Amino acid sequence: MTSKTTVNPTARLIEVFSAIQGEGLNVGTRQIFIRFAFCDLRCHFCDSAHTWNAPDTCNIEQTPGLRDFEVHSNPVSLPTLLQWVERQNIPFLHDSISLTGGEPLLHAPFLASFLPQVRSLTNLPIYLETGGHRPEQLAMLLPYLDSVGMDFKLPSVSGESYWQEHAQCLKLGYDSHLDVFVKIIISENTEPTELERSALLVADVSPEIPVFLQPVTPLADWEKLANKPIVAPLPEQVLKWQALMKKFVHHVRVVPQTHKMLNQL
Ligand code: SF4
Repeated sequence: MTSKTTVNPTARLIEVFSAIQGEGLNVGTRQIFIRFAFCDLRCHFCDSAHTWNAPDTCNIEQTPGLRDFEVHSNPVSLPTLLQWVERQNIPFLHDSISLTGGEPLLHAPFLASFLPQVRSLTNLPIYLETGGHRPEQLAMLLPYLDSVGMDFKLPSVSGESYWQEHAQCLKLGYDSHLDVFVKIIISENTEPTELERSALLVADVSPEIPVFLQPVTPLADWEKLANKPIVAPLPEQVLKWQALMKKFVHHVRVVPQTHKMLNQL
């Protein structure tokens, strides 16, 4: 093992802040968000393209929810990040810690050291948001996670294709008894056969795993951040696709990105 390389682990961060989760199973809950830099995918609908590369600095909220960001240099040491999370963790406020990005699993060696420490420090559950395409890295972190949201990347919408990896990641999380769910971004161009394939893939692990269909939300300010314009699905498409998936999996919910409606980060 290469544990020597993690003696002084560091992370490249985008930001740390307290906000309301706008997507998936934890929607509406209050989380401490740790947004990691780097992503190895290039989804067409990405509104986080600022996470793709390594920034020199990161924005760290001082007081939960006040957006009083300090700017710090990257990379960040593990004890420093622990201090920032501890500062956010005022009593009774947060439901969990959200590891987001970018792709947090690109920081797997750092997280393998950080997660056990942040858990014992805060006692908060840990939620991982991932593209679900890096099973080896996910396997390293399973003992430290409570819930995992996996974005299935449909080729017709994202331009990416990782069916086999999605299946592996989902099985890993489910077999480890984590709260796993699947999120699928849908647009007017979504190919129904890809939704059917996704539903079959989920059902193969367990038909009880919740699936969230998330229509792209073309709100003006956020559209500018997206890579190229994408169009929300028509109401009749959404109804048809939910019905299609429910033939195979029991819980298919349609939920748009509520944090954008609430003007959250
Ligand atoms: S995985 Fe997320 S951060 Fe990466 S390109 Fe896709 S939407 Fe953007």
